[in-house]
Amino acid sequence: MRLAPPLATLALGVCLTAQQPIPPDTTLVEAEAFADTGGWVVDQQFMDLMGSPMLLAHGLGEPVKDAATAVVIVHPGRHRVWVRTRDWVAPWNAPGAPGRFQLLVDGEALATTFGTEGAEWHWQDGGEVELGDLATLTLHDLTGFEGRCDAILLSRDLTFTPPDSGDALAALRGQLLGWHAAPIDGGDYDLVVCGGGLAGTAAAITAARLGCKVALVQDRPVLGGNGSSEVRVWPEGHTNHEPYPHVGDVVRELVRIKQKGDGNAGNADIYEDRRKLDLARAEPNLTLLLEHRVHAATCEGGHITAVRAQHTRSGRRVELRARCFADCTGDGVLGALVGADFEMTEQGHMGVSNLWNVGAVQKNEYQLRCECEDPDDPLSLQFTASDQPAPFPRCPWAVDLSDKPFPGRKPTAGGERKDADLSQLGGWFWETGFDRHPIADLERMRDQNLRAMYGAWDTLKNVDGQYPNQRLKWAAFLAGKRESRRLCGDVVVTGEDFHLQRPWPDAAFPCTWHIDLHFPKTAFQKGHEGDEFISDYTRGEGYAYQGPYWAPYRALYSRNVDNLFMAGRDISVTHEALGAVRVMQTCGMMGEVVGMAASLCVELDCAPRAVYADHLDELRQLLRRGAGRR
Ligand SMILES: Cc1cc2nc3c(=O)[nH]c(=O)nc-3n(C[C@H](O)[C@H](O)[C@H](O)COP(=O)(O)OP(=O)(O)OC[C@H]3O[C@@H](n4cnc5c(N)ncnc54)[C@H](O)[C@@H]3O)c2cc1C
Repeated sequence: MRLAPPLATLALGVCLTAQQPIPPDTTLVEAEAFADTGGWVVDQQFMDLMGSPMLLAHGLGEPVKDAATAVVIVHPGRHRVWVRTRDWVAPWNAPGAPGRFQLLVDGEALATTFGTEGAEWHWQDGGEVELGDLATLTLHDLTGFEGRCDAILLSRDLTFTPPDSGDALAALRGQLLGWHAAPIDGGDYDLVVCGGGLAGTAAAITAARLGCKVALVQDRPVLGGNGSSEVRVWPEGHTNHEPYPHVGDVVRELVRIKQKGDGNAGNADIYEDRRKLDLARAEPNLTLLLEHRVHAATCEGGHITAVRAQHTRSGRRVELRARCFADCTGDGVLGALVGADFEMTEQGHMGVSNLWNVGAVQKNEYQLRCECEDPDDPLSLQFTASDQPAPFPRCPWAVDLSDKPFPGRKPTAGGERKDADLSQLGGWFWETGFDRHPIADLERMRDQNLRAMYGAWDTLKNVDGQYPNQRLKWAAFLAGKRESRRLCGDVVVTGEDFHLQRPWPDAAFPCTWHIDLHFPKTAFQKGHEGDEFISDYTRGEGYAYQGPYWAPYRALYSRNVDNLFMAGRDISVTHEALGAVRVMQTCGMMGEVVGMAASLCVELDCAPRAVYADHLDELRQLLRRGAGRR
């Protein structure tokens, strides 16, 4: 194993903060910056809440390969070791602390087992060690059950206790990692697109093709968002309708026509991450910043001048300036940073899912390395059918389903349970968090999805005695999200607009999906009230409409931040209308329209609102022409 000291480990804290003095000779090592992350995955989803990404041992019950790094110690000697972690099932008071791991210093395991205490992120004391001028740190997973490590702190001051959260923790990171320094200059653009789901990718490609200088900032190593191999949702919605049959041409390049076998939670290759990356990289006007998360912005008088993004492994920070910005983050992250008006349904909204599947396999280490970490790796999985038993441990910390029904579990017939229906496991309806805060509670919602999956598999294997040779094959560690902030534009599209077929002069993208809203399914609610994990969906007359229904351009720019576009699920719609617009090919077409409008802002030196007010004919011309290459 080659171990190079990562950048983040070289900064030594010698400054004092207003909140708490940081002793000299204190070294902070971010886990995601480890030189070799082994089988641990970089999880950036909760970065805005935690202040940093983390490493996650997402092993589906099999311990993942060690992660390791080397650290330069400027003043060798006795140090106290702290590890920032938590017991991820503690919010449910569940027993067993499944996310246990060890830290090895120079090959020796510390006496403490980490991940065993505390519902909140905190520094767990690892005791004292003697360090030479170069130390190796190794994270050793003990369970494969979602252990998590944010950072490791080494201090010569044996009495120093690092702050657990808030401004004091941010100041500590800032001092020790050099984050207080000015960011790297990332350049000037016509359009900076934040978020590389289908909406953001289509927006960036379209604007670049129409002559704009574009930056696309995406916090994962692949493009596609929920439609990538990391989340595995199949993009739905129909494209290329009259009167603008070329709206959808870019989407058609990004997403193949659905083939037999294409769908949710399939094998990684069907989501074609490479196709999206190749299309983006083929655009000379497009600068692609993968693994960068937008975390700050400069905005004065309702006008954005710059955004800042942080590399999700190295911590490197970069500033990008532009004439216009597009929020395609799904969560309206940029809009929230700059004070854009938004609405959010805090209770009774659609939930999040972590899709999963099972299979007869011999080895799954290959896949557990997370094929998406390295986009150059072949993305298809290599499983071998097995006739060997694949035991799975009891999971007393998971959702207890031993005497409860769940989709796929067949009722007993004469004392015997019939085989479960495997196709019912891990589908879109394994969904939680309907009444939880869509942003602040995201880690809890993701973890509840994982608890439900592990509880169901434990029940099928160990209570019902089914599937002795099957394993959990794949599960998304990234939460697939459906609903959070909806940024307000000059028009807020409502469900009534769909029902009444309200026409718009600025009709710009066709909607074809029914008003598909989710809520807890009553058949599986009992005993899980407040933590439901199976959903139902709206259907029937009240939720159908005559499609395609063309929605207006004015839902795609902010009403109070004058150079902010949006595309994807964070556009200007009500909760009800979101049910129809949120499918990914529709989101991709919103992106195309935003790319076209951004090109007009550059060409005509105007703001997004003026594209509607003064240049609607020019927009219609572009809608007619489209931005396809094929
Ligand atoms: C389980 C599930 C099943 C679904 N079923 C379907 C279906 O069958 N068909 C369908 O079409 N739709 C389906 N949907 C809905 C659909 O997936 C979403 O509505 C859609 O993905 C929204 O697209 P988006 O581009 O706005 O967001 P996303 O697809 O979430 O893409 C946003 C991207 O931005 C990145 N990002 C977020 N914040 C930042 C930041 N600060 N900086 C940089 N990057 C950032 C994210 O990592 C992500 O990759 C489903 C959703 C779920 C969760």
